[in-house]
Amino acid sequence: MNPIRIKKGYDLNVEGRPSDKIEQLPKPAYVAAVPEKIPFIKPRLAVKIGDEVKIGTVLFVDKRAPEIKFLSPGGGKVEQINFGPRRIIREIIIKLESEEASEAFEKVPETHLGHLERHDLVKMLLEGGLWPLIRQLPYRDIADPVKNPPAVFVSLDAGEAFQPASGVYLKDQKELFAYGIQVLRKLAQDNVYVTARHENREVPAEYNQWITHFYTGKYPAADPGVLLYHTRTSADANHCWYISGQDLLLLARLLKTGKYPVERIVTLGGTLCSDPGHVGTRSGVPLAHLAAGRKQEKNIRYIAGGLFRGYIAAENTFLGYYEKSLLLLPAGDQEEVFGFVRPGFNKPSYSRAFLSYFNTAALPMDCNRHGGVRACIACGYCAQVCPVDILPQLTFKAVLADAVEEFLAHGLLDCVECGLCTYVCPSKIELADILVHAKAAYYKEQTA
Ligand code: SF4
Ligand code: SF4
Repeated sequence: MNPIRIKKGYDLNVEGRPSDKIEQLPKPAYVAAVPEKIPFIKPRLAVKIGDEVKIGTVLFVDKRAPEIKFLSPGGGKVEQINFGPRRIIREIIIKLESEEASEAFEKVPETHLGHLERHDLVKMLLEGGLWPLIRQLPYRDIADPVKNPPAVFVSLDAGEAFQPASGVYLKDQKELFAYGIQVLRKLAQDNVYVTARHENREVPAEYNQWITHFYTGKYPAADPGVLLYHTRTSADANHCWYISGQDLLLLARLLKTGKYPVERIVTLGGTLCSDPGHVGTRSGVPLAHLAAGRKQEKNIRYIAGGLFRGYIAAENTFLGYYEKSLLLLPAGDQEEVFGFVRPGFNKPSYSRAFLSYFNTAALPMDCNRHGGVRACIACGYCAQVCPVDILPQLTFKAVLADAVEEFLAHGLLDCVECGLCTYVCPSKIELADILVHAKAAYYKEQTA
């Protein structure tokens, strides 16, 4: 099998990468669901303060599609519900009991899976609160349960640096993984693409039997949107679904055990993390609990969800439904409006103008912006790194001019939201932010 070669992209070599070591964290006192961080949904509460909930009790649903349910990551009492501007539900905080009860869902023994109707399987995943783990391209919204996808991608490798390594989360999970693949085959009429890096492989060899596509390339080559862009043969394929390898194991665990699975493997890393590595914890864990004992006592900025695609989070908040990593970085002097960080002098940089370009050692990283926004200088760096051949410097101008036909022609919908164009831009233009918002606005228009 010839690997798919992704020529563009960029690997950032910074300090604090998580080792493969895994430590089991103690149970936290509280967990929370964080509706605010789930894109494209309008949450409607199904509980109120003081309600007793079990693991797997419905906490909220999507108003526009009430069959999309989000379940409690803990058993105990709803202690607090926090709202943001315009009454957006920010967090539903649950105080955990020492003995937590679980809701019971239907179990599907492996021998029954083949006889199950597809719509029954979909219903079980919706009821079990894990359907939102399956997402669809190009907008990355929750997969539409009534549609048949052209194919579903399973990315085994971490989507970006600092996320859980496949060698860690796949260890001793072969049976569960095989079961999960059977589930996906049923959902996507056998069109399941399992992808893994060809060189420097971390995926254990026993998983080779399921891998359908190998690839080579730098970040974000593992992204299903990138692989789709380089392999698609028809416009229909643009609506493929995708799920991460770790999330596939959760689907399998739900159906096999009949319990809502709350276990998660999460990475802790970054310059101010004293022992970067993996931890076994649970969904909705408090960030302070995750960082306890590992953070260096400095002015820390918490970045949840990844270096390029993550967001700045307060210490007293909780890990969201999709997030599996926490970075601890020096806060720097200036306010940031986005979760990824910028190069500066003696700092990691894409530009050859900085000596650090020639330094092969992992460099420290902070959140300083190192200067304000300037006009585009037409350096072309953003286009050099864009893995799906968008010209971000032209596309963002079309977006600002509200030239819909033009930004679509530039390939806005192919944008995989990797954040690289913003990272490399010497003029500090929030290219990715502008493009991601334009894509989301276009999606809303199309689905209104
Ligand atoms: S336009 Fe920017 S954010 Fe989008 S795929 Fe290209 S580099 Fe990534
Ligand atoms: S990287 Fe920034 S300055 Fe350079 S071409 Fe792109 S938008 Fe313009």
